Amino acid sequence: MVTQTMQTIDIHAHILTEETIRLLQREAPKVGPKLSELGDQFATLDVAGSVYRHFPRGGWDVEHRLQDMAASKVDVQVLSVCPQTFVYAQPPALAAAFARIQNEQLAKLAKARPDRFLAIATLPMQAPKQAADELRHAVRVLGLRGAQIGSNVAGKNLDDPELEPVWATAAELDAFILLHPINVAGADRLSSYYLGNLIGNPLDTTIAAACLVFSGVLERHPSLKICLAHGGGFVPYQAGRFVHGWHVRAEPKRALGKPPTDSLKRFYFDTIVHSREVLEFLVGNAARATRRGRSPDAVRTHFAWMREQRGNGGEKNVATSGADAGCQARGRRRIRVRSQRRESYPRRPRLLDRQRRLRRG
Ligand SMILES: [Zn+2]
Repeated sequence: MVTQTMQTIDIHAHILTEETIRLLQREAPKVGPKLSELGDQFATLDVAGSVYRHFPRGGWDVEHRLQDMAASKVDVQVLSVCPQTFVYAQPPALAAAFARIQNEQLAKLAKARPDRFLAIATLPMQAPKQAADELRHAVRVLGLRGAQIGSNVAGKNLDDPELEPVWATAAELDAFILLHPINVAGADRLSSYYLGNLIGNPLDTTIAAACLVFSGVLERHPSLKICLAHGGGFVPYQAGRFVHGWHVRAEPKRALGKPPTDSLKRFYFDTIVHSREVLEFLVGNAARATRRGRSPDAVRTHFAWMREQRGNGGEKNVATSGADAGCQARGRRRIRVRSQRRESYPRRPRLLDRQRRLRRG
């Protein structure tokens, strides 16, 4: 039975307002984002030569976004920057300046509408010590809830030992980390058919997750909370292979002293999988992992953490946290999981219709 107090919280919601664009442009005119071909519904976004067409109006227009949220019955969004603005390949000073500008802007949006927005920071990951400092500032001073980071740092995998300060600080702050694909592997073979997105994005998330597991990052930081975008890439489907590989080969054991099972159970997932069947697999899988691997207390702790983040004692759920969603669905039947939703930005009308049909069905 769904309770009146339950809320749907969308944790994968990029934003880049026109004010932020102006500030980034002023900071670095050549690299700063540009919006062009502004239409009623879409524009073209260009960040340092990386062009994104059909950037939806809700991506830059807050009022439009609020209307889209109402139409798609999302109560709260956890705002994050557009990954194009990570600028990990740029000099650290520029990335740090971009991060500070965007984090202050995100904080301003969340402060203006605390009933509708939370926010997570962006970090200059090419300078890990600065990234850790920025995360601390974002959480402690700006009131953000964690950070969104890329699946690699300008081609460096996330098992790079230099990134240790970021993981240690995130764990210490109990920060929520959304891991989002960027600069994907195999791009030279994924140039046709939009495969850079269709395969490249989940592939790079999978590489990032595997690096965090097999390098022992998750094992070393038991409180680190990592949410994998796009339903975890290929991780949920191939988790058995990771475990099997650890048992039968020497290489996966080198930095991980025990099977990867426990580390794999630690991941959170969003629900952007575009298929009811796949979502059911994801939720069921995460719920099974949760039941096997965690005591009920541990599961409750996760809910408590989420409630704390909202500053509200009512029943809440992060719709896009697979493990928690599955567990709650099975345990208390108080969940509303979005079975279909478009990534990142407010939805297109055609997809909204489809969502409504699915909800009715
Ligand atoms: Zn995204």
